[in-house]
Amino acid sequence: MQLDPRSITVMTALMAAVLGAVLLGVRRNYPPSIRGLLPWSLAPMACALAAGVYAMQGLLPDPVVAQSGNALLLAGCGLFYFGSQRFFGRRVTWRLWGGIALLSLAVLTWFLIRPDYRLRVAVFTGTMTACVLAHARLVLRDGRGFAARLIAGTLLLQAAVLIARGLAAFWVDGPASSRFAMTTVQTAYIASYCFSALLLSVGVLLMASERVREEFELLATRDALTGALTRRAVLQAGGEEFDRWRRYEQPLSLLLLDIDHFKQVNDRHGHQTGDRVLAEAVAVMREQLRATDRLGRYGGEEFVILLPSTGPEAARASAERVREALAAHEPAPGIPPCSASLGVAWTQPGDASLDALLARADAALYRAKAKGRNRVE
Ligand code: GH3
Ligand code: MG
Ligand code: MG
Repeated sequence: MQLDPRSITVMTALMAAVLGAVLLGVRRNYPPSIRGLLPWSLAPMACALAAGVYAMQGLLPDPVVAQSGNALLLAGCGLFYFGSQRFFGRRVTWRLWGGIALLSLAVLTWFLIRPDYRLRVAVFTGTMTACVLAHARLVLRDGRGFAARLIAGTLLLQAAVLIARGLAAFWVDGPASSRFAMTTVQTAYIASYCFSALLLSVGVLLMASERVREEFELLATRDALTGALTRRAVLQAGGEEFDRWRRYEQPLSLLLLDIDHFKQVNDRHGHQTGDRVLAEAVAVMREQLRATDRLGRYGGEEFVILLPSTGPEAARASAERVREALAAHEPAPGIPPCSASLGVAWTQPGDASLDALLARADAALYRAKAKGRNRVE
Protein backbone atom coordinates (compact mmCIF):
# COMPACT_ATOMS: atom_id res chain seq x y z
CA MET A 1 0.00 0.00 0.00
CA GLN A 2 1.33 3.41 -0.89
CA LEU A 3 0.57 5.94 1.85
CA ASP A 4 -0.01 9.48 0.74
CA PRO A 5 2.39 11.79 2.63
CA ARG A 6 0.09 14.77 2.29
CA SER A 7 -2.85 12.98 3.99
CA ILE A 8 -0.55 11.72 6.73
CA THR A 9 0.62 15.27 7.31
CA VAL A 10 -2.94 16.52 7.70
CA MET A 11 -3.76 13.65 10.09
CA THR A 12 -0.71 14.57 12.13
CA ALA A 13 -1.95 18.12 12.40
CA LEU A 14 -5.39 17.13 13.66
CA MET A 15 -4.15 14.55 16.12
CA ALA A 16 -1.39 16.72 17.55
CA ALA A 17 -3.76 19.67 17.94
CA VAL A 18 -6.23 17.54 19.91
CA LEU A 19 -3.48 16.19 22.15
CA GLY A 20 -2.19 19.69 22.80
CA ALA A 21 -5.69 20.77 23.79
CA VAL A 22 -6.01 17.78 26.13
CA LEU A 23 -2.72 18.70 27.83
CA LEU A 24 -3.91 22.28 28.17
CA GLY A 25 -7.15 21.09 29.78
CA VAL A 26 -5.32 18.78 32.16
CA ARG A 27 -3.07 21.66 33.19
CA ARG A 28 -5.96 23.52 34.79
CA ASN A 29 -6.87 20.56 36.99
CA TYR A 30 -3.36 19.76 38.17
CA PRO A 31 -1.68 21.43 41.14
CA PRO A 32 0.73 24.25 40.21
CA SER A 33 3.61 22.18 41.59
CA ILE A 34 3.44 20.10 38.40
CA ARG A 35 5.62 22.23 36.13
CA GLY A 36 6.12 22.11 32.38
CA LEU A 37 2.56 21.45 31.25
CA LEU A 38 2.26 24.71 29.28
CA PRO A 39 5.30 24.13 27.02
CA TRP A 40 4.26 20.47 26.74
CA SER A 41 0.79 21.45 25.52
CA LEU A 42 2.14 24.07 23.10
CA ALA A 43 4.63 21.58 21.61
CA PRO A 44 2.15 19.32 19.77
CA MET A 45 0.23 22.44 18.73
CA ALA A 46 3.37 23.81 17.07
CA CYS A 47 3.78 20.44 15.32
CA ALA A 48 0.12 20.66 14.25
CA LEU A 49 0.61 24.14 12.82
CA ALA A 50 3.71 22.92 11.00
CA ALA A 51 1.75 20.11 9.40
CA GLY A 52 -1.02 22.56 8.49
CA VAL A 53 1.53 24.82 6.84
CA TYR A 54 3.01 21.88 4.86
CA ALA A 55 -0.48 20.97 3.68
CA MET A 56 -0.75 24.45 2.14
CA GLN A 57 2.04 23.67 -0.29
CA GLY A 58 0.92 25.00 -3.64
CA LEU A 59 -1.36 27.57 -2.03
CA LEU A 60 1.46 29.54 -0.42
CA PRO A 61 4.87 30.29 -1.97
CA ASP A 62 7.26 27.35 -1.45
CA PRO A 63 9.92 29.26 0.51
CA VAL A 64 7.24 30.47 2.95
CA VAL A 65 5.91 26.92 3.42
CA ALA A 66 9.40 25.50 3.88
CA GLN A 67 10.67 28.10 6.32
CA SER A 68 7.62 28.48 8.52
CA GLY A 69 7.12 24.68 8.58
CA ASN A 70 10.70 24.13 9.66
CA ALA A 71 10.52 26.90 12.25
CA LEU A 72 7.34 25.43 13.77
CA LEU A 73 8.77 21.90 13.90
CA LEU A 74 11.92 23.19 15.60
CA ALA A 75 9.72 25.12 18.04
CA GLY A 76 7.65 21.99 18.77
CA CYS A 77 10.77 19.92 19.38
CA GLY A 78 12.22 22.62 21.66
CA LEU A 79 8.95 23.12 23.58
CA PHE A 80 8.73 19.41 24.40
CA TYR A 81 12.28 19.62 25.71
CA PHE A 82 11.66 22.83 27.71
CA GLY A 83 8.55 21.26 29.23
CA SER A 84 10.63 18.35 30.48
CA GLN A 85 13.29 20.71 31.82
CA ARG A 86 10.65 22.54 33.83
CA PHE A 87 9.02 19.31 34.96
CA PHE A 88 12.29 17.99 36.34
CA GLY A 89 13.16 21.35 37.93
CA ARG A 90 16.12 21.99 35.63
CA ARG A 91 17.16 25.35 34.21
CA VAL A 92 15.31 25.96 30.93
CA THR A 93 17.96 26.42 28.23
CA TRP A 94 15.71 28.29 25.80
CA ARG A 95 18.38 30.89 24.94
CA LEU A 96 20.83 28.22 23.84
CA TRP A 97 18.31 26.20 21.82
CA GLY A 98 16.56 29.31 20.49
CA GLY A 99 19.96 30.51 19.24
CA ILE A 100 20.74 27.15 17.64
CA ALA A 101 17.30 27.09 15.96
CA LEU A 102 17.71 30.63 14.58
CA LEU A 103 21.18 29.78 13.26
CA SER A 104 19.81 26.64 11.66
CA LEU A 105 16.97 28.63 10.06
CA ALA A 106 19.47 31.17 8.70
CA VAL A 107 21.48 28.37 7.08
CA LEU A 108 18.26 26.85 5.70
CA THR A 109 17.36 30.24 4.18
CA TRP A 110 20.76 30.37 2.54
CA PHE A 111 20.11 27.01 0.84
CA LEU A 112 16.76 28.33 -0.36
CA ILE A 113 18.52 31.20 -2.06
CA ARG A 114 21.10 28.79 -3.49
CA PRO A 115 18.77 25.79 -3.70
CA ASP A 116 20.04 22.44 -2.41
CA TYR A 117 17.33 20.22 -0.98
CA ARG A 118 19.80 17.62 0.30
CA LEU A 119 21.79 20.10 2.37
CA ARG A 120 18.56 21.60 3.68
CA VAL A 121 17.42 18.18 4.89
CA ALA A 122 20.82 17.49 6.44
CA VAL A 123 20.91 20.80 8.36
CA PHE A 124 17.31 20.47 9.52
CA THR A 125 17.50 16.83 10.63
CA GLY A 126 20.87 17.54 12.29
CA THR A 127 19.41 20.33 14.44
CA MET A 128 16.34 18.30 15.32
CA THR A 129 18.45 15.26 16.21
CA ALA A 130 20.61 17.31 18.58
CA CYS A 131 17.54 18.65 20.41
CA VAL A 132 15.82 15.25 20.54
CA LEU A 133 18.94 13.54 21.90
CA ALA A 134 19.48 16.25 24.54
CA HIS A 135 15.86 15.72 25.58
CA ALA A 136 16.28 11.93 25.69
CA ARG A 137 19.38 12.30 27.86
CA LEU A 138 17.48 14.48 30.34
CA VAL A 139 14.57 12.04 30.62
CA LEU A 140 16.89 9.04 31.00
CA ARG A 141 18.78 10.82 33.77
CA ASP A 142 15.91 12.37 35.78
CA GLY A 143 12.89 10.24 34.91
CA ARG A 144 11.84 6.85 36.17
CA GLY A 145 8.96 4.50 35.62
CA PHE A 146 7.03 3.45 32.53
CA ALA A 147 6.16 6.97 31.31
CA ALA A 148 9.79 8.12 31.32
CA ARG A 149 10.84 4.98 29.44
CA LEU A 150 8.09 5.56 26.89
CA ILE A 151 9.23 9.15 26.33
CA ALA A 152 12.93 8.27 26.14
CA GLY A 153 12.21 5.34 23.80
CA THR A 154 10.10 7.55 21.52
CA LEU A 155 12.80 10.23 21.43
CA LEU A 156 15.53 7.71 20.61
CA LEU A 157 13.39 6.24 17.85
CA GLN A 158 12.70 9.73 16.52
CA ALA A 159 16.43 10.47 16.55
CA ALA A 160 17.10 7.26 14.62
CA VAL A 161 14.50 8.21 11.98
CA LEU A 162 15.90 11.75 11.74
CA ILE A 163 19.44 10.47 11.26
CA ALA A 164 18.26 7.96 8.66
CA ARG A 165 16.37 10.74 6.84
CA GLY A 166 19.42 13.02 6.88
CA LEU A 167 21.66 10.28 5.48
CA ALA A 168 19.07 9.08 2.97
CA ALA A 169 18.92 12.61 1.55
CA PHE A 170 22.27 11.97 -0.06
CA TRP A 171 21.31 8.89 -2.05
CA VAL A 172 17.51 9.02 -2.46
CA ASP A 173 16.98 12.73 -3.14
CA GLY A 174 18.62 14.92 -5.72
CA PRO A 175 19.47 18.56 -5.03
CA ALA A 176 16.18 19.55 -6.67
CA SER A 177 13.83 17.06 -4.86
CA SER A 178 10.72 18.31 -3.15
CA ARG A 179 9.13 17.63 0.19
CA PHE A 180 6.09 15.86 -1.21
CA ALA A 181 7.95 13.54 -3.56
CA MET A 182 6.41 10.08 -2.99
CA THR A 183 9.48 8.27 -1.78
CA THR A 184 9.22 5.54 0.86
CA VAL A 185 11.75 7.39 2.98
CA GLN A 186 9.66 10.54 2.91
CA THR A 187 6.50 8.65 3.85
CA ALA A 188 8.19 6.91 6.78
CA TYR A 189 9.73 10.18 7.87
CA ILE A 190 6.46 12.09 7.97
CA ALA A 191 4.64 9.14 9.59
CA SER A 192 7.28 9.10 12.31
CA TYR A 193 6.31 12.66 13.31
CA CYS A 194 2.77 11.45 13.66
CA PHE A 195 3.76 8.69 16.08
CA SER A 196 6.31 10.79 17.96
CA ALA A 197 3.81 13.56 18.65
CA LEU A 198 1.25 11.00 19.80
CA LEU A 199 3.58 8.97 22.01
CA LEU A 200 5.34 11.99 23.51
CA SER A 201 2.06 13.64 24.43
CA VAL A 202 0.73 10.45 25.98
CA GLY A 203 4.07 9.96 27.74
CA VAL A 204 4.17 13.41 29.33
CA LEU A 205 0.52 13.06 30.35
CA LEU A 206 1.30 9.78 32.12
CA MET A 207 4.42 11.20 33.73
CA ALA A 208 2.52 14.23 35.06
CA SER A 209 -0.28 12.00 36.43
CA GLU A 210 2.29 9.83 38.16
CA ARG A 211 3.78 12.92 39.81
CA VAL A 212 0.33 14.06 40.98
CA ARG A 213 -0.29 10.64 42.52
CA GLU A 214 3.07 10.75 44.34
CA GLU A 215 2.35 14.23 45.69
CA PHE A 216 -1.06 13.25 47.01
CA GLU A 217 0.39 10.16 48.60
CA LEU A 218 3.00 12.29 50.32
CA LEU A 219 0.33 14.74 51.49
CA ALA A 220 -1.74 11.88 52.88
CA THR A 221 1.08 10.15 54.75
CA ARG A 222 3.22 13.07 56.01
CA ASP A 223 2.52 15.40 58.89
CA ALA A 224 2.66 18.92 57.46
CA LEU A 225 4.41 20.53 60.45
CA THR A 226 7.17 18.02 61.19
CA GLY A 227 7.45 15.82 58.09
CA ALA A 228 7.02 12.73 60.29
CA LEU A 229 4.50 10.09 59.17
CA THR A 230 0.90 10.82 60.08
CA ARG A 231 -0.71 8.80 62.86
CA ARG A 232 -2.69 6.76 60.34
CA ALA A 233 0.36 6.03 58.18
CA VAL A 234 2.61 5.00 61.07
CA LEU A 235 -0.10 2.80 62.62
CA GLN A 236 -0.69 1.13 59.27
CA ALA A 237 3.04 0.48 58.90
CA GLY A 238 3.04 -0.80 62.49
CA GLY A 239 0.21 -3.20 61.68
CA GLU A 240 2.18 -4.59 58.74
CA GLU A 241 5.30 -5.03 60.89
CA PHE A 242 3.22 -6.73 63.54
CA ASP A 243 1.91 -9.26 60.97
CA ARG A 244 5.49 -9.90 59.88
CA TRP A 245 6.39 -10.67 63.51
CA ARG A 246 3.50 -13.12 63.82
CA ARG A 247 4.23 -14.88 60.54
CA TYR A 248 8.02 -14.90 60.39
CA GLU A 249 8.87 -14.16 64.05
CA GLN A 250 10.80 -11.08 63.04
CA PRO A 251 11.23 -9.15 66.29
CA LEU A 252 9.50 -5.77 66.51
CA SER A 253 9.87 -3.00 69.07
CA LEU A 254 8.10 0.29 69.50
CA LEU A 255 8.90 3.55 71.29
CA LEU A 256 6.41 6.10 72.48
CA LEU A 257 7.97 9.51 73.03
CA ASP A 258 6.45 12.56 74.70
CA ILE A 259 8.16 15.93 74.98
CA ASP A 260 8.57 17.10 78.57
CA HIS A 261 6.76 20.19 79.85
CA PHE A 262 5.80 21.17 76.37
CA LYS A 263 2.85 23.19 77.57
CA GLN A 264 5.33 25.55 79.25
CA VAL A 265 7.10 26.09 75.93
CA ASN A 266 3.84 27.23 74.40
CA ASP A 267 2.89 29.33 77.42
CA ARG A 268 6.26 31.10 77.70
CA HIS A 269 7.37 31.39 74.07
CA GLY A 270 4.18 31.19 72.08
CA HIS A 271 2.57 28.55 69.94
CA GLN A 272 4.75 29.31 66.90
CA THR A 273 7.93 28.66 68.84
CA GLY A 274 6.30 25.48 70.09
CA ASP A 275 5.80 24.44 66.48
CA ARG A 276 9.47 25.04 65.70
CA VAL A 277 10.49 22.98 68.74
CA LEU A 278 8.42 20.09 67.38
CA ALA A 279 9.95 20.34 63.91
CA GLU A 280 13.48 20.51 65.32
CA ALA A 281 12.84 17.60 67.67
CA VAL A 282 11.77 15.43 64.74
CA ALA A 283 14.93 16.36 62.83
CA VAL A 284 17.05 15.40 65.85
CA MET A 285 15.20 12.08 66.32
CA ARG A 286 15.61 11.20 62.65
CA GLU A 287 19.39 11.47 62.88
CA GLN A 288 19.41 8.75 65.53
CA LEU A 289 17.22 6.29 63.61
CA ARG A 290 18.04 3.70 60.97
CA ALA A 291 16.63 3.89 57.45
CA THR A 292 14.19 1.06 58.24
CA ASP A 293 12.85 2.69 61.43
CA ARG A 294 9.62 4.65 61.06
CA LEU A 295 8.84 7.84 62.93
CA GLY A 296 5.26 9.05 63.17
CA ARG A 297 3.41 11.81 64.97
CA TYR A 298 0.99 10.07 67.31
CA GLY A 299 -0.69 13.33 68.26
CA GLY A 300 0.31 16.76 69.67
CA GLU A 301 3.84 16.39 71.04
CA GLU A 302 3.77 12.60 71.16
CA PHE A 303 5.59 10.42 68.66
CA VAL A 304 5.69 6.71 67.81
CA ILE A 305 8.89 5.10 66.58
CA LEU A 306 8.68 1.66 64.99
CA LEU A 307 11.83 -0.42 65.20
CA PRO A 308 11.51 -3.45 62.90
CA SER A 309 13.88 -6.42 63.40
CA THR A 310 14.79 -5.01 66.81
CA GLY A 311 14.71 -6.87 70.13
CA PRO A 312 14.32 -5.36 73.65
CA GLU A 313 18.01 -4.60 74.27
CA ALA A 314 18.61 -2.84 70.93
CA ALA A 315 15.29 -0.99 71.32
CA ARG A 316 16.28 0.31 74.71
CA ALA A 317 19.64 1.45 73.29
CA SER A 318 17.83 3.24 70.46
CA ALA A 319 15.53 4.96 72.94
CA GLU A 320 18.51 6.09 75.03
CA ARG A 321 20.23 7.46 71.93
CA VAL A 322 17.16 9.47 70.96
CA ARG A 323 16.68 10.77 74.52
CA GLU A 324 20.34 11.81 74.83
CA ALA A 325 20.36 13.49 71.42
CA LEU A 326 17.28 15.56 72.30
CA ALA A 327 18.64 16.57 75.69
CA ALA A 328 22.04 17.48 74.22
CA HIS A 329 20.65 19.32 71.20
CA GLU A 330 21.46 23.02 71.10
CA PRO A 331 18.46 24.70 69.51
CA ALA A 332 18.54 27.73 67.23
CA PRO A 333 18.56 31.17 68.99
CA GLY A 334 15.21 31.99 70.56
CA ILE A 335 14.15 28.34 70.76
CA PRO A 336 14.16 26.78 74.23
CA PRO A 337 15.90 23.42 74.78
CA CYS A 338 13.70 20.45 75.57
CA SER A 339 13.91 16.88 76.73
CA ALA A 340 11.61 13.91 76.21
CA SER A 341 10.46 10.81 78.04
CA LEU A 342 10.20 7.47 76.29
CA GLY A 343 8.39 4.21 76.85
CA VAL A 344 9.77 1.06 75.18
CA ALA A 345 7.69 -2.02 74.29
CA TRP A 346 8.37 -5.14 72.25
CA THR A 347 6.35 -8.02 70.93
CA GLN A 348 5.51 -10.76 73.41
CA PRO A 349 3.75 -14.12 73.01
CA GLY A 350 0.00 -13.61 73.21
CA ASP A 351 -0.03 -10.13 71.68
CA ALA A 352 -3.10 -9.93 69.44
CA SER A 353 -2.35 -6.65 67.69
CA LEU A 354 -0.14 -3.59 67.68
CA ASP A 355 -2.45 -2.10 70.31
CA ALA A 356 -0.89 -4.41 72.90
CA LEU A 357 2.53 -2.85 72.27
CA LEU A 358 1.10 0.65 72.23
CA ALA A 359 -0.60 0.06 75.59
CA ARG A 360 2.63 -1.24 77.19
CA ALA A 361 4.69 1.60 75.70
CA ASP A 362 2.12 4.09 77.03
CA ALA A 363 2.30 2.58 80.51
CA ALA A 364 6.11 2.71 80.37
CA LEU A 365 5.98 6.33 79.22
CA TYR A 366 3.70 7.17 82.12
CA ARG A 367 6.27 5.63 84.52
CA ALA A 368 9.07 7.64 82.87
CA LYS A 369 7.08 10.83 83.47
CA ALA A 370 6.31 9.86 87.05
CA LYS A 371 9.97 9.14 87.77
CA GLY A 372 11.02 12.66 86.82
CA ARG A 373 11.00 12.86 82.96
CA ASN A 374 13.96 12.91 80.52
CA ARG A 375 14.25 9.13 80.90
CA VAL A 376 13.53 5.80 79.24
CA GLU A 377 11.36 3.08 80.79
P1 GH3 B 1 4.56 16.48 80.25
O1 GH3 B 1 5.98 16.64 80.57
O2 GH3 B 1 3.78 15.83 81.34
O3 GH3 B 1 4.34 15.77 78.95
O4 GH3 B 1 3.96 17.93 80.09
P2 GH3 B 1 3.41 18.61 78.82
O5 GH3 B 1 3.22 20.05 79.11
O6 GH3 B 1 4.27 18.30 77.67
O7 GH3 B 1 2.06 17.82 78.61
P3 GH3 B 1 0.66 18.12 77.99
O8 GH3 B 1 0.24 16.90 77.27
O9 GH3 B 1 -0.25 18.61 79.07
O10 GH3 B 1 0.87 19.28 76.97
C1 GH3 B 1 0.96 19.09 75.62
C2 GH3 B 1 0.81 20.41 74.94
O11 GH3 B 1 1.18 20.32 73.58
C3 GH3 B 1 -0.58 20.94 74.97
C4 GH3 B 1 -0.85 21.41 73.55
O12 GH3 B 1 -1.30 22.73 73.51
C5 GH3 B 1 0.50 21.35 72.91
N1 GH3 B 1 0.43 21.00 71.50
C6 GH3 B 1 -0.17 19.93 70.93
N2 GH3 B 1 0.02 19.97 69.59
C7 GH3 B 1 0.72 21.10 69.31
C8 GH3 B 1 1.21 21.69 68.12
O13 GH3 B 1 1.03 21.19 67.01
N3 GH3 B 1 1.92 22.84 68.21
C9 GH3 B 1 2.14 23.42 69.41
N4 GH3 B 1 2.86 24.55 69.46
N5 GH3 B 1 1.68 22.90 70.56
C10 GH3 B 1 0.99 21.75 70.51
MG1 MG C 1 4.46 16.32 76.98
MG1 MG D 1 1.51 14.77 75.74
